[in-house]
Amino acid sequence: MSKQTLSFQAEVAQLLHLVTHSLYSNQEIFLRELISNASDACDKLRFEALNNNALYEDAPNLEVRVSFDKDAKTLTIQDNGIGMSAQEAIDHLGTIAKSGTKDFMGKLTGDQKADAQLIGQFGVGFYSGFIVADKITVESRRAGLKADEGVRWVSGGAGDFEVETINRPARGTSVILHLRDDASEYLNAWKLKQVIGKYSDHISLPILMEKEEWKESEKEGEPGGMVKTGEWETVNKASALWTRPKKDITEEQYQEFYKAISHDHENPLTWAHNRVEGNTEYTQLLYIPAKAPFDLWNRDKKAGVKLYVKRVFIMDDAEALMPSYLRFVKGVIDSSDLPLNVSRELLQESRDVRSIREGSTKRVLSMLEDLAKHDKHDAPAEGADGVTDVVSEEDKAKEGKYTAFYAEFGAVLKEGLGEDFANRERLAKLLRFASTTSDAVSVGFADYKARMKEGQEAIYYITADTLAAAKNSPQLEVFKKKGIEVLLMTDRVDEWALNYLHDFDGTPLQSVAKGAVDLGKLQDEAEKKAAEEAAEAFKPVLAKLKEALKDKAEDVRVTTRLVDSPACLVVQDDGMSTQLARMLKQAGQKAPETKPVLEVNAEHPLVKKLDGSVHFHDLAHILFDQALLAEGGLPEDPAAYVKRVNALLA
Ligand code: ADP
Repeated sequence: MSKQTLSFQAEVAQLLHLVTHSLYSNQEIFLRELISNASDACDKLRFEALNNNALYEDAPNLEVRVSFDKDAKTLTIQDNGIGMSAQEAIDHLGTIAKSGTKDFMGKLTGDQKADAQLIGQFGVGFYSGFIVADKITVESRRAGLKADEGVRWVSGGAGDFEVETINRPARGTSVILHLRDDASEYLNAWKLKQVIGKYSDHISLPILMEKEEWKESEKEGEPGGMVKTGEWETVNKASALWTRPKKDITEEQYQEFYKAISHDHENPLTWAHNRVEGNTEYTQLLYIPAKAPFDLWNRDKKAGVKLYVKRVFIMDDAEALMPSYLRFVKGVIDSSDLPLNVSRELLQESRDVRSIREGSTKRVLSMLEDLAKHDKHDAPAEGADGVTDVVSEEDKAKEGKYTAFYAEFGAVLKEGLGEDFANRERLAKLLRFASTTSDAVSVGFADYKARMKEGQEAIYYITADTLAAAKNSPQLEVFKKKGIEVLLMTDRVDEWALNYLHDFDGTPLQSVAKGAVDLGKLQDEAEKKAAEEAAEAFKPVLAKLKEALKDKAEDVRVTTRLVDSPACLVVQDDGMSTQLARMLKQAGQKAPETKPVLEVNAEHPLVKKLDGSVHFHDLAHILFDQALLAEGGLPEDPAAYVKRVNALLA
């Protein structure tokens, strides 16, 4: 292939513009990204070579070399990993394959600071080279191809790049950065070693740099300088971080490792590092991020846990290792038992994998339980022995973390109720909601239970689109009057998730919008009797109402759940809530056509007026349509509704 000029995919051009304009503040991360790519390329070679040993050619020792040329102002990161063919260079360095890229680009605001934050989550990878370089040359040859099938890729980081085939005996990739004038500090061995030590110490491959030594100048009177010796030395620890004993790893190293594998620029909330022994032996290093990634809701997104077998990287979309509702977890699992040539199919079926998955799921749940336990600390209490408990520094550091976690990932966690039956009870304990006594999403089922009224037999909840709609729902009136707490659920997933949770610790969960209210022992005999009498007296009107609304309402009945409102809609016990039905419709899906039940407050002046009114038919329909409006729905025929109201107003 002779030299040709190609354009970047639009998203790449956009990303490059951002990289060069907003990522100045943390320049040095480019080295981490490029070394991480080099290390991935070596991992890939090792994996492919399991079935084709010839790919090692005559260089079986995988390594990364970092070198610089002061005169040419270039910094080169070279690996002898899998390399790229010409087509791969065009595809991989000219386009972004990540799913959700378009959506992500749409979120950029043009505000450099905000965008730099976002871009950190997205991960700029290879393109980060343009933070320090005004031109990048990539020379590469894919393992297994002939020497004359190498490729050279060159770009100034604007709209296009050049590619041509070259002769390249060495397998693997060299990324040559032509440094900008303001990035000349990277032409310095000491600086490079420092940055490598900070970000890439954990990389399991050796990172080599050429040794330098001091040499006096040969010319009289001129100062000496550092000169290269031709000897290479390893400048990182080169042992995979997770294989080292915990006590030898600093907090900062754990954090840097997280950033390297997650492409997140923020520190994680917490992590767990364990060696699990027993039937299956493996090491797990699992992190809980502080911020949700931009593509959290993308269900076919790769899981964040990388699978290694005896330190050999196997794959990084190992869904088999983590259930989908924990897809935000990042980390590494290194098994001692799985065969090295483990295939995707085998992963699904292996008993070892299943037990790793169960163990890792439990580990994540315990991490969350620990955060939840330390989320809030009451003022230290003086014990009976006169000694005041002191909250340890370690525990103090966990304060507020669960709330932060829950705000980012709570909705995903709820998916687990429908997905992971074995851990349902543990998950239920981790859920938090707003309630009629707390606007903050901080009430767990256990807190609720502890506050339940004498005689209360159920945990009451309501689902709605927004907190305001939930709080002001007419269905809550009697609960407010009696001072009974109701959980307010406003996540889209709540309705679905709650289908899988019928009780908590023996107490049934009861939607206040489903079925007739039965406050059980919370209602005294006098109240019950009065309600029955009112219902009896109202019977003739009820029959007329049913007739007038027979196309809209499944049934009409008298209720005691209302105090200030004339009417509300409820669904039958086994019915789909109107909110869920509406959501399904919005999503373009078929919802079963179930009619709601209209419940009326026989004590309400408007309802009392019905009897004998000449406007009976209009009032009946207004009553129904208003009940629909009150829960965030729309009358079937809004114009007719307006007409009826106006007629009465006039
Ligand atoms: P990511 O690493 O997140 O996929 P990058 O933009 O860093 O994104 O790299 C894009 C792709 O380019 C990589 O997925 C890989 O296929 C290829 N690539 C980058 N660096 C190398 C390298 N040193 N050796 C081989 N392939 C590479």
